[in-house]
Amino acid sequence: MLCPKLTCMLRPRPRTRRFSTAILSQPLNFINGTRSIPTSHNETENITVFNPAKGEIICETVSSGSEDVDRAVQAAKNAFPLWSQLSGFERGKILLSVANRIKERREELAELEVLDNGKPIWEARVDVQSVIDGLEYNAGLAPTISGQQIQLPGGSFAYTRREPLGVCVGIGAWNFPVQIAGWKSAPALACGNTMVYKPSQFTPLSALLLAEIYNESGIPDGVFNVIQGQGETGRLLTSHHDVAKVSFTGSVPTGKKIMADCAGDIKKITLELGGKSPLIIFADCNIDNAVKGAMLANFMTQGEVCSNGTRVFVEQSIKDEFLEKLLDKIKDMKIGDPMAEDTMVGAMISKEHMEKVLGYIEGAKLQGANILCGGERVYPEDPSLSNGYFLSPCVMDNCTDDMTAVQEEIFGPAMAVLTFETEEEVIKRANATKFGLAGGVFTSDLTRGHRVIANLQSGTCFINNYNLYPIEMPFGGYKQSGLGRELGTSAIDSYTQTKMVYVEMGDVDCPY
Ligand code: NDP
Repeated sequence: MLCPKLTCMLRPRPRTRRFSTAILSQPLNFINGTRSIPTSHNETENITVFNPAKGEIICETVSSGSEDVDRAVQAAKNAFPLWSQLSGFERGKILLSVANRIKERREELAELEVLDNGKPIWEARVDVQSVIDGLEYNAGLAPTISGQQIQLPGGSFAYTRREPLGVCVGIGAWNFPVQIAGWKSAPALACGNTMVYKPSQFTPLSALLLAEIYNESGIPDGVFNVIQGQGETGRLLTSHHDVAKVSFTGSVPTGKKIMADCAGDIKKITLELGGKSPLIIFADCNIDNAVKGAMLANFMTQGEVCSNGTRVFVEQSIKDEFLEKLLDKIKDMKIGDPMAEDTMVGAMISKEHMEKVLGYIEGAKLQGANILCGGERVYPEDPSLSNGYFLSPCVMDNCTDDMTAVQEEIFGPAMAVLTFETEEEVIKRANATKFGLAGGVFTSDLTRGHRVIANLQSGTCFINNYNLYPIEMPFGGYKQSGLGRELGTSAIDSYTQTKMVYVEMGDVDCPY
């Protein structure tokens, strides 16, 4: 997911590589302002963290167990009274110092993200910028969080207070590790909540560095804690009785489990889940922009993007021209070392995931798709990358709506091209999915653009662009793609609750 400053991130930057060896030797927990080794070794399994570009082990740790989870939740609970009693202005000022500190360490955070996730460095810089934007935006909103006053008969009145929820849990996926941690924590903390954050076991590093930056920038101990672990650690968090809210980013099946776990305590939840979004390209569009939009909708972060427009519906009359231009641009995408400034396609998160994506492409071929380019494992010339998990961007033509690769989220660089004849037909087909995260349309007819979008069953839509996420825009899904919204002022709503206070200015009117 991107903010709108893409090309400026391509500029070469001085290399710093200053992340502490402690982070690389073992991704630890960060509880109450201190790094700590997960203690519940016997109950849980080891976690091995790979550099996906080299297929090498970076470090190992163990999954946190119930003792660690309890300590983290307790630290957040203890920190809540002090943090929530600060004024929004005071909290905002601290969040601004975090943003400023990240600006000083942005390259370090971006490089750590590349090492852990495999995405190209310029994309990691976009993600870090999005964290900075989120902190600055929510720092600005913090002093504005306020209630209403409501006049009642006889001079009595009511007022409302917007209060924080308490201890919030954030659980993140591996595709945007630092961005997800930032998007969840900035509004949560701005509202006066405290947080325990669990990154994915595949990408544990950047959230830990983020916690250290929070701490050194004036966020009090216990306000933001990081706990390492696998799904079971996540489950210990989501079922913990002292947790008031869970904000989750991940797959639909895990989202369903979390919803069920939260039901026991009626915890508040935000779910940002998967998608299989439609991108509709009409014959009257600017075709060069539509080609760029389709690439942004499919190939960022090796296609591992929840909101990707992976079902590309092209009006039949321009299909040949669209494909010719698309293939011409894809052939120039450099695949390889994600630390190189000119790399456009980095490494998939893991060998297993790469094989899963290849399996979808093989399955599509068997079901009749015509592979126009890519969809193969790539071995870059640099011998140090020969064990990396690289895939070439793939375009699948001759697709039909019933193919598995057209119905299921592949989460890799695989674009399915479908054709259509009429607006009515394409809207119906675009909506024929259990997902509803995103959707887009390319057309020069403004009326049609708005009409099509109004009929799409998707929470996040684009006209004549795709996959841009300015921090002011609420982000989230319809149908099984999620519940609630992140970003914008919607995030503030989701991290506060409203208290109503009736104030009597006269005598109590009582029939007894
Ligand atoms: P998963 O659902 O497998 O995991 C997400 C997180 O949940 C991980 O930290 C995972 O831990 C943890 N987890 C797993 N099981 C449980 C459980 N029972 N209780 C609590 N936590 C649990 O998703 P992926 O990490 O594979 O991410 C890919 C998915 O995320 C895709 O479907 C994608 O579309 C979606 N996504 C959605 C976004 C959105 O904003 N809508 C953005 C980014 C991704 P561990 O990894 O350690 O097992």
